[in-house]
Amino acid sequence: MRILGIEGTAWAASASVFETPDPAQVTDDDHVFIETDAYAPDSGGIHPREAAEHMGEAIPTVVKTAIKHAHERAGAGGTNGSGENSAPIDAVAFARGPGLGPCLRIVATAARAVAQRFDVPLVGVNHMVAHLEVGRHRSGFDSPVCLNASGANAHILGYRNGRYRVLGETMDTGVGNAIDKFTRHIGWSHPGGPKVEQHAKDGEYHELPYVVKGMDFSFSGIMSAAKQAVDDGVPVEDVCRGMEETIFAMLTEVSERALSLTGADELVLGGGVGQNDRLQRMLGEMCEQRGAKFYAPEHRFLRDNAGMIAMLGAKMYAAGDTIPIEDSRIDSNFRPDEVAVTWRGAEES
Ligand code: ATP
Repeated sequence: MRILGIEGTAWAASASVFETPDPAQVTDDDHVFIETDAYAPDSGGIHPREAAEHMGEAIPTVVKTAIKHAHERAGAGGTNGSGENSAPIDAVAFARGPGLGPCLRIVATAARAVAQRFDVPLVGVNHMVAHLEVGRHRSGFDSPVCLNASGANAHILGYRNGRYRVLGETMDTGVGNAIDKFTRHIGWSHPGGPKVEQHAKDGEYHELPYVVKGMDFSFSGIMSAAKQAVDDGVPVEDVCRGMEETIFAMLTEVSERALSLTGADELVLGGGVGQNDRLQRMLGEMCEQRGAKFYAPEHRFLRDNAGMIAMLGAKMYAAGDTIPIEDSRIDSNFRPDEVAVTWRGAEES
């Protein structure tokens, strides 16, 4: 099976080819190709109009590159034929949401065009569930709790009765967005997360508000306090260290509570903030202390990427979870708990 994936919810114009003999598990014959063209704002944060302009220019190019790659794979012994006109893919998976509407519309238009061109089915993927499933797939874990720590989101998911339930989530801004707003305030370019990680290494811990309410958490107070601290003359390295320790301790506390409440003994990490080494270490230590297993995918599968869209697309396609073009509208507020998890039953049968 060979699936084309297209991602473009915010900053990453990305296309992927995922080829596998069995979408239910990782095999030695799995092959993942990812081509990404990232939007980097000249100043400030992600501007929706500029991001959409970037998608309009970059999506056709990355998709063409991925299709060329799929043709090469098909020619190298794949099952879909190798001629210019024969379909080198079995289906087209695209990120349907959540994300920036103008960007999503460009992705969906490209996906529909490719599906029609090769006369293959369309698969509409929830971007946040893809952040989770790529970790579940690559870890081989059965039923993990997932911490999604990304730019625009932050939530803990657990599986029950055919759905991923939101066990806890941010009450205001996404975790990466909070970090990026702080770095914007001090004049650092986007994205701020990697810079905070770098500076925190040289800092002393500076106390910031720790806000966990039940299973939910809030980042806006931390962000305001961090800006204020720098304005008051606290060394920026110390504020970065304080942000990391505070935010990641909150996420670790709620992840631990989710493991405890669900009785699960597996945790996977998803999302661009998940690339942070300190967050991975805190989650890893917590899991080790309670005898649970922890898995963080490679960086290229943590930040936004079409590989995760193609991987979940393969599982959905195998489960017959495809959509007609007329029902393929985007959903910029697509929540993970709205998704009927069709593929896990198919994996078990
Ligand atoms: P979503 O998946 O919710 O749509 P997104 O589109 O913003 O989010 P991601 O690629 O998941 O994209 O995450 C991007 C975020 O990750 C940015 O806010 C960025 O600052 C943050 N980030 C990247 N690297 C690091 C790091 N090393 N430490 C902390 N944060 C990081």
